[in-house]
Amino acid sequence: MGLKRPKIAVIGAGGNVGAAVVQWSALKELGDIVSIDVKGSVAQGKGLDLAQCGPFIGFDLPFTTGEDPALLQDSDIVVMTAGIPRKPGQTREELIGVNAKIVKDICLNIKKYAPNATLVVVSNPLDAMVFVAKQVTGFPRNRVIGSAGVLDSSRFRYNIAQAAGASVRDVQAIVLGAHTDKDMVPITSTATIGGVPLHKILKSDQITAIVEKTKKSGADLTALIGTSAWLAPGSSTATMVESLARNQNRVLPCSVELQGEFGFKDTFVGVPTQLNGSGAAKIYEIDLDPKEKEAFKVSVEANKELMKIAGSFL
Ligand code: NAD
Repeated sequence: MGLKRPKIAVIGAGGNVGAAVVQWSALKELGDIVSIDVKGSVAQGKGLDLAQCGPFIGFDLPFTTGEDPALLQDSDIVVMTAGIPRKPGQTREELIGVNAKIVKDICLNIKKYAPNATLVVVSNPLDAMVFVAKQVTGFPRNRVIGSAGVLDSSRFRYNIAQAAGASVRDVQAIVLGAHTDKDMVPITSTATIGGVPLHKILKSDQITAIVEKTKKSGADLTALIGTSAWLAPGSSTATMVESLARNQNRVLPCSVELQGEFGFKDTFVGVPTQLNGSGAAKIYEIDLDPKEKEAFKVSVEANKELMKIAGSFL
């Protein structure tokens, strides 16, 4: 028998974000992909359509697909995108009741069929769903990771590049805190363009406008498309999967359980996290300026409220 490639299961792969995770992961040939969805034929059709791109784009996509949770068996990485997306005018928080039940049911199967997997949660409201996943699976915190900070940071970097007339490649900036329009915390104190501090390039009112635009990027896209966006959410999640599957040690903003870091415990929130073959291997604490520190605290408190509500569905 040859060397084994990682087995990556995507639950909700018939939907927009799940199919995008499969697409970006297939392009990078991150592993053998299992597409699972209650709409099994949709997941199968999207998988086949993608596999048939392989000959000319240049990738092989060994994939299995269906509705049966047993397909999760022995997965190394499980990506959870199952759940309803928000509609125009809705907040992510409003999805909590429906999605908590979906995430809980799926997590029972993850625990049963893939007890050693690293779980990447994408379903919203994100931080509360990571909490549900951690509670139900009982996995250690390094193996239950929420995907949102990479997406929010990607939007932040794009908005900075647009305002400064710079290349997105040269913008370094992160978004921490909760994955909600109201409480996410775009960090401006450490943002740079080509190594030059952001505040040396843009005026403070321009920076404030970028922060506000970043916070409502998801809502703006939902209003334009009529449903939640999927390409950037899918590519952001695949970036995390790549670091896990290829042991890359990338440091990315991810939602994980804090155990004293940043001065908080028993809460789930976006923080700089190193991802490698063992999952969320390390959390890095950074110095925030006083305004960011306060916003981060508010963010943690808001997430604690959401966790309380999500907990009532367990
Ligand atoms: P979608 O409706 O297109 O897809 C959801 C899929 O989940 C559907 O195909 C549905 O059949 C499937 N599903 C539902 N219950 C299931 C179950 N029990 N088992 C297996 N599959 C099940 O929605 P979408 O746009 O792909 O969004 C999916 C989720 O991701 C939503 O909750 C959305 O809010 C969230 N999202 C998160 C981020 C983020 O950054 N964290 C970004 C975008 C969207």
